[in-house]
Amino acid sequence: MDKQRDITAVTFSFVVPVYNEAESLPAFYSKLRAEADKLGQPYEIIFIDDGSTDESPEIIRSLHEDDDRVRCVSFSRNFGPQEAITAGYDYAAGSAVISLDADGQHPPEVIAELVAKWRQGYEVVCTVKAHTKDVSLPRRLAVKCVYRLIRLLTGMDIADQADFRLLDRKAVEAVRQVRERSRFLRGLVRWVGFRQAEVQYEVADRLGGTPAYTLGKLARMGSAGLFNFSVMPLRLIGLAGGTMTATAIVYAVAALILWPFVGGSLIANLVMLAVGLTGLQLAAIGVCGEYVGRIYDEAKGRPIYVVREAVGFEPAEEETQTQPQPARSDTPTEPSRIRLFT
Ligand code: UDP
Ligand code: MG
Repeated sequence: MDKQRDITAVTFSFVVPVYNEAESLPAFYSKLRAEADKLGQPYEIIFIDDGSTDESPEIIRSLHEDDDRVRCVSFSRNFGPQEAITAGYDYAAGSAVISLDADGQHPPEVIAELVAKWRQGYEVVCTVKAHTKDVSLPRRLAVKCVYRLIRLLTGMDIADQADFRLLDRKAVEAVRQVRERSRFLRGLVRWVGFRQAEVQYEVADRLGGTPAYTLGKLARMGSAGLFNFSVMPLRLIGLAGGTMTATAIVYAVAALILWPFVGGSLIANLVMLAVGLTGLQLAAIGVCGEYVGRIYDEAKGRPIYVVREAVGFEPAEEETQTQPQPARSDTPTEPSRIRLFT
């Protein structure tokens, strides 16, 4: 197994999504570098600048000038952390690819544990938050409900997982095959299979700045976790619709029989029934819309992200110097498409 992992470029690729992390980046880089050096094998650190509006790009550039193992992929605008990590997987050349946040909340000290599991033969090493401190009660409850729902409808238990994980090259290639626009990497990583292990970690304090994940973004990710991996909501609607229709038929028959005895009050009941059924129909349309919206997104076939600049990667050919391509030639992101949007 170790022979297969022997690659020429680097053993470890660290993939770090960055959105306005100027306050954290210098301290984060020192910590990551200290831990990466301990591994004793060649590595690269790929920062994906997800359209930062602060000094993050300049900081990354100066880190690259001092240390050529630091590379940077800059997006043309803010696409989101899932898209940023996806780009990291596309550009990474390592035998093992480790993604972690730039704010220091994914403690680099845990990397040694992830690598130890990988060396034992696990191809996917996920992390699970030991406990979620510093998170408000409503947010914690909302997140818990979403995870419960995902588990109920998809069978995937991804509660308290973070985008802090190690993927073996084989798993990276498998994840890269999936080019869904609506990205939910925690689910995808489960879906690709391989030998999986989990490592618990304590969420560290942010090194600086404020979290960029709004509740809205969280909701989008939750719905991706649900609707990307299960058609159960559609089935449940069908079931609910069938039950409601059957109930309505029974009700109508009973209403006709009882008409001479109860008369007018029945009208009110019927109005309530109509309101209930209308509500159900609207909810059904909403759930169908989630799927139709996803089909629409996929049908457009847009790239998952658009790269403005990639620094520190070998240019594959001359023309790619103005429009750099992912380090790997077999990337599913088509170069011609990217050019259209830049
Ligand atoms: N991030 C990103 N794009 C965004 C929002 C966040 O690349 O639109 C990065 C951010 O810089 C950090 C990671 O994704 O490295 C997680 O973000 P954050 O700390 O805001 O999320 P949380 O810790 O609340 O999950
Ligand atoms: Mg964070």
